[in-house]
Amino acid sequence: MNVSSDTPVRTACQPEEPMQTTPEAEFFPEEFRRFCDDPQSLTVRSARQFGVSPETVVNWRWHMRRQVGDAATAEKALALAPQERDGFNLLADAFVAGITPYYMSLMNQDPTVSCPIRLQALPRREELDVRVGVMDPLDEVPHSPVKEVVQVYPDRVAFCVAQLCPVYCRYCFRKRRDEEDGLHFNRRIIDNGINYIASNPAIRDVLITGGDPFIASDSAIENLLERLSAIPHVDIIRFGTRTPVTLPYRVTAKLAKMIARFHPVWLNTHFNCAEELTPEAIQAVSNLVDAGIPVGNQAVLLKGINDTPERLMALCRALLKARVRPYYLFHPHLVEGTEHLRVPIEDGLKLIRSLRGNITGMGIPTYIVDTPSGKIPMMPNHVLGTDGEDLLLEDVRGQIWREKAAMRPV
Ligand code: SF4
Repeated sequence: MNVSSDTPVRTACQPEEPMQTTPEAEFFPEEFRRFCDDPQSLTVRSARQFGVSPETVVNWRWHMRRQVGDAATAEKALALAPQERDGFNLLADAFVAGITPYYMSLMNQDPTVSCPIRLQALPRREELDVRVGVMDPLDEVPHSPVKEVVQVYPDRVAFCVAQLCPVYCRYCFRKRRDEEDGLHFNRRIIDNGINYIASNPAIRDVLITGGDPFIASDSAIENLLERLSAIPHVDIIRFGTRTPVTLPYRVTAKLAKMIARFHPVWLNTHFNCAEELTPEAIQAVSNLVDAGIPVGNQAVLLKGINDTPERLMALCRALLKARVRPYYLFHPHLVEGTEHLRVPIEDGLKLIRSLRGNITGMGIPTYIVDTPSGKIPMMPNHVLGTDGEDLLLEDVRGQIWREKAAMRPV
């Protein structure tokens, strides 16, 4: 089905800095051109589904103008299940929906089939079944010495410069930021944040996050990097962005080369299932890695998305193949409206255990429970106890290993 209108659909939060239209809007990322010429590509499928040319699909700004945010628009692109239609209609005032045409095209077209992409992005009636859950599960507001700078550890801060995202993930732990307009690349917030960082010499590491900090012009990102890297005590800059997953055309080789001028820069993205590693997404990652930017992945453990050994293994293998290091697997935060996606912590530990011995160690993410006072790594227990001075350990196949005291240094 086609969506023929080219009118913007997103109104929930607008950037203080207007989206730049020229000259960057006219720039065509040549590294994505092959997807326009491939009739099997997701790019061409998206073009057909939304009634535009493949060259339009490659323009990331078009996706932000055409974010799907209501049931009527969504149903022009694909059929909805009743609980998804209700979700759009009943949750419009609770947590805004917004989905890029690219990510919509990745969804299974059959609403009766359980689809990990649909589950992450389409609102569902179940979100109204709130028993537990809060809007700020990490107490980020009380941990912010100035607005949008979150500090839990002395040596690092998360600097939330962005409010907009290509896709509003239904389980997002920063849903609360959706309620307040004017946070996106807000000049006052950025000035105050930079002043705070500059006046605190203990801060060596700045994570630029949001929202999604790549939803800004190259020049806005460059300006931010110039200001941060001019602070003598800032050793490293990190980005958290989901654009490789939900809007890969944003991650151009040109953007990556610009960012690489400010090394050391690290980046974490957020793939949750192997289906998201499309050729377009892999191109976005390659642009970053080829520019020398190390890319890690922070997944969230989610029911129906990555909560079986097979699905988690497929994700980790696909990440390694794409040169992305599986870094963290977050236990889902206690966010309001996400109970239908939660997985018991015991299941999470079993999943991590299932990876060990079946994939290289660097393909196994650290399982994390994130709390207001910091991240707690969760490890399956391999220490059975002691026998005399010997340590009894269980290997990945369930066999007992006796680590003799004599083998350990005295
Ligand atoms: S991309 Fe990140 S910040 Fe944006 S909605 Fe998804 S989880 Fe939240």
